[in-house]
Amino acid sequence: METLKKSYIKSINPFNNELVKEFEIMSNDQVDQIVDKADEAFKSWKNTSFDERAKIIHKVASIMRDRKQELGKLATLEMGKLLRESIYEVELSANIFDYYADNASKFLSDHPLETELGEAFLSYEPIGVLLSVQPWNFPYYQITRSAASALMAGNTMVLKHASNVPQCAQIMEDIFHEAGLPKGVYTNLFVPGGSVERIVDNPKIKAVALTGSEAAGGSIAAAAGKNIKKSTLELGGSDPFIVLEDVDIDKAVETAILGRMWNAGQVCVSPKRIIVPETIAENFIQKAKTLLASLKVGNPLEDDTVVAPLSSEKAAQDVAGQVEKAVANGAKVELGGKRIDRPGAFLEPTLLTGITAENPIFFEEIFGPVVVIYTYKTIEDAIELANATTFGLGGSVFGNDIPKAKEVARKIDTGMVYINHVTGIAPELPFGGTKRSGYGREQSPAAIYEFVNAKLIRVTSPENLY
Ligand code: NAP
Repeated sequence: METLKKSYIKSINPFNNELVKEFEIMSNDQVDQIVDKADEAFKSWKNTSFDERAKIIHKVASIMRDRKQELGKLATLEMGKLLRESIYEVELSANIFDYYADNASKFLSDHPLETELGEAFLSYEPIGVLLSVQPWNFPYYQITRSAASALMAGNTMVLKHASNVPQCAQIMEDIFHEAGLPKGVYTNLFVPGGSVERIVDNPKIKAVALTGSEAAGGSIAAAAGKNIKKSTLELGGSDPFIVLEDVDIDKAVETAILGRMWNAGQVCVSPKRIIVPETIAENFIQKAKTLLASLKVGNPLEDDTVVAPLSSEKAAQDVAGQVEKAVANGAKVELGGKRIDRPGAFLEPTLLTGITAENPIFFEEIFGPVVVIYTYKTIEDAIELANATTFGLGGSVFGNDIPKAKEVARKIDTGMVYINHVTGIAPELPFGGTKRSGYGREQSPAAIYEFVNAKLIRVTSPENLY
C-alpha cells in the first residue's frame, strides 16, 4: 500500500484495502469559486424551461444505463458492494432521473387556492444553490436522490460526497456535463466532512440536504439553523421487522436475512431488529442461522457472492467492536461475530440474540452484516419494542393477515412501513424518517417541494378596487 498523504481524499478498495486513486482536497478558495459559479449558473438555469431541463436529465439517465457495467464496477471497487447490487443501483438512479424529468413540470405547475378573496395560486420557484452532503453506501443513488428533483426544479447544486467514493462522485459530474448540463449547475466539492459547516455559512448557499449519521446531521442542522437556511436530514435507522404469528416462516426468514445482508448490512433501511413471536422463535432462529451460514462471503465481483466486504477497514473494525460490546453486555452469538482472517474489510455474517434494553447496543444502529433477533409475547410487546428506539426511519410487518399487518404498521413510529417486504425504494414513493432519523422527504412528488419557494400570488381584479 502506498504512503497516504493527509491532503488527499482516497479511493481504497475494501476488498483488499489497496489504494486505488487520490484526489487533492480543495482549498477554501477553490470551494468558494465553485459556489460562486453555481450561483452565477443559477441565474440562467432557473429560467430554462422544464422541457430543456428534462432533455438533459433524461440524457443523464440514458448515459447511466448505457454505462451501467462500468459505473457498477467503479462503485464496487470503491466501496465494496456486490457488482449486481451496484448495477441495480445505477438502473434505479436512472429511473429516478427519468421520473423527475417526466413529472417535474406537472408537480410544479401553479396550484390554485380556493378563497373568497379572488384569484390566488401558489407559484413554485427555485431558491438557488443547494449544498448536498451524501454518504458512500449508495454512491450513485444518494447523489440522484437529492439532485434529480432539485435540478429539475431549477436549482443548482454543489455536492460534497463521502470521502471514500471520490471516483463515483467524479464520474457523475462528468456524466452531467456529457448530457449537456451547463457548467456550474452541478459541481463536486472534494473536501472532508469537517469543512462543511464553513460552506453552509456561505450566503450563496441557500439550503442544505444531508444524508448520513446523526453526528453529521446535528452539525449541519445547527449550521443551517444559525444561518436561517432550510435543511433536510436523512439519518440513520434501526428498522424493526415484526413477524406475525400466522407467518410462513421460511419466507419471513429469507426476506429478513437476505434483506439484512443487502450491501453487507450497510443500508439505512435494513431490517436491523427482527422481532419474532416466542411461539416460533426457536424454529425461526434455527432457520435464520442455517441460511446465514450458507451464504458465500467473498469477492463482490463474483456472481455467487452474497456477503460483500464492508466499505472500509474502519467500518469493519467499528462493527466488530459493536458485536464485542453487545456480547460483553449479555448478547448471545448464535453465529459468526468475528473478523475473517483474510485481506479486506470482512466480517463474518453474524447472528445475535438475547439483547435487552440494558445492553447499550440496543439503542445503536449496527451498520454491517449483523442480524439481531428479539422475541415477543403479545403484539403490543412487539410494537413497544419496535418503537423503543430513538430512530424512526423504516420498518416491516410480515404475515398473512393483511388487515392485522396494516393495524400494526399504523402503530410503528417511522416514516415508512412495508408489509411483507423490507423497507424498499421506488422513485414515486417518498423516502424519509421521523424522530432522530431526520426530517424531510426524498423521492416522490414530496421531494420537489422541499427546496422551492411556494410563493402565493393573489390577484384583486381592477373592478373590485375601491
Ligand atoms: P457520515 O459519517 O455522517 O457521512 C455522511 C456524509 O457526511 C459524508 O459525506 C461525510 O463526509 C459527511 N460528514 C461527516 N461529518 C460531517 C460533519 N460534521 N459535518 C458535515 N458533514 C459531515 O455517515 P456514515 O457513517 O459514513 O454513513 C452512514 C450513515 O448514514 C448511517 O447512519 C446510515 O444509516 C445513514 N444513511 C441514511 C440514509 C437515509 O436515507 N436516511 C441513507 C444512507 C445512509 P466524509 O466522508 O468526508 O466524512
